Amino acid sequence: MSFETIHEGNIRAYLMTVPGLFPANARLQVTEIGDGNINFVYKVWDDKSGQSVIVKQAKPYLRSSGKDRSLTTDRIRIESEVMAIEGSFCPDLVPKIYHQDMGQSLFVMEDLSDHEIMRKGLIKRKRYPLFPEHIGTFMAHTLYKTSDFTLEAKAKKAMQARFINPEMCEITEKLVFTVPYYDDQTTRYMPGSAQAGAALRSNEPLKKEVAKLKEAFLTSAQALIHGDLHTGSLFVTENSTKAIDQEFAYYGPMGFDVGAVIGNLVLNYAAHEYHSPDPAQREDFRTYLLETIEAVWQVFEREFTRLWKEHNQEVTAQAEGYREDYLARLFADSMGFGGCKVIRRIGRAPVEDFTSIADPKIRAKAERLALKLGEAMVRERHDFGTIEAVTHRIREIQAEAE
Ligand code: ADP
Ligand code: MG
Repeated sequence: MSFETIHEGNIRAYLMTVPGLFPANARLQVTEIGDGNINFVYKVWDDKSGQSVIVKQAKPYLRSSGKDRSLTTDRIRIESEVMAIEGSFCPDLVPKIYHQDMGQSLFVMEDLSDHEIMRKGLIKRKRYPLFPEHIGTFMAHTLYKTSDFTLEAKAKKAMQARFINPEMCEITEKLVFTVPYYDDQTTRYMPGSAQAGAALRSNEPLKKEVAKLKEAFLTSAQALIHGDLHTGSLFVTENSTKAIDQEFAYYGPMGFDVGAVIGNLVLNYAAHEYHSPDPAQREDFRTYLLETIEAVWQVFEREFTRLWKEHNQEVTAQAEGYREDYLARLFADSMGFGGCKVIRRIGRAPVEDFTSIADPKIRAKAERLALKLGEAMVRERHDFGTIEAVTHRIREIQAEAE
């Protein structure tokens, strides 16, 4: 049986042709569940056996903009292949992949409907005690094991070629590093934060630092990074963490992933200006977020160091002090990229932490705080030295903003 393009109408018949997926007498149901604006995500389940899968399909355009905005379907190959590679290092920390069909620009993966998008949980003040251990381990293994410290020179270059991802990278290059500082997007801020947003465009010291970070994003090929590791790409329960949505992956600077996680925790920290109206509760949850930020870095550093000591095929890695120097630079990069991620979510492409704030005054206050925190993370990234200095500074800026 051959298929034209797969869509909601024929997806069940298509899946019945995939060997080993569903029993022959399955009664399949389908529903589209995608909440992202890029791709189509379907849940398909068998009424009889209760089995279910998720199908993710890329169309040659952006889902939210329709056919006017073309975008390469190669992104779904990259996503499914990177998910499989990450799964080979950390099988519990990504969905299982059941089937890949690049002719149809789709892949079929484990249904994680019992998980929740972390961003949504954090907005509700949910806590994830194992998250730092999970995500710190995930980042250390996926980054270290795709770097020159693990891969032989030619194998690494082949990986770089395999995961060249120019169209998706260009989106990040523009939206994260350029638009907030060069485009007039005053109307995209709340009236109460428009001034602070517009001030980015004349903040020369900040723009200089962001230019350096963009340069690193453009030119540094340290590891196969996830490329979009925000709390909307993390599926969690109290006991489980799964990284999804690897379509922005490419060989880039490791700190971009670490920064994405930390930056999004900082965004949530700022947004609790609204989501936790009770001051004691707000203080309590913010403390939890800062402790989580500290633990994420600590676990990452611990695991990365362990991997380096156990196996490093790069002879220069033996040079005295090099590992400490590398980690110090990686730390500063992470804070800088994290700050860029914070700033870029205020104004254009705001995240749910902010869009769900019903009171424009409080939202503006939270936005101004986020912009200050983002700026400090970028500009002071070389001064912090420790993650505790970062969380201390976050507290200080928040107290000043009161
Ligand atoms: P996009 O690339 O369009 O951003 P995502 O990969 O972020 O798509 O997926 C969009 C949404 O689909 C997720 O927020 C989540 O709600 C749902 N989803 C994605 N993967 C799974 C999965 N494996 N199990 C259950 N739901 C999923
Ligand atoms: Mg997404």
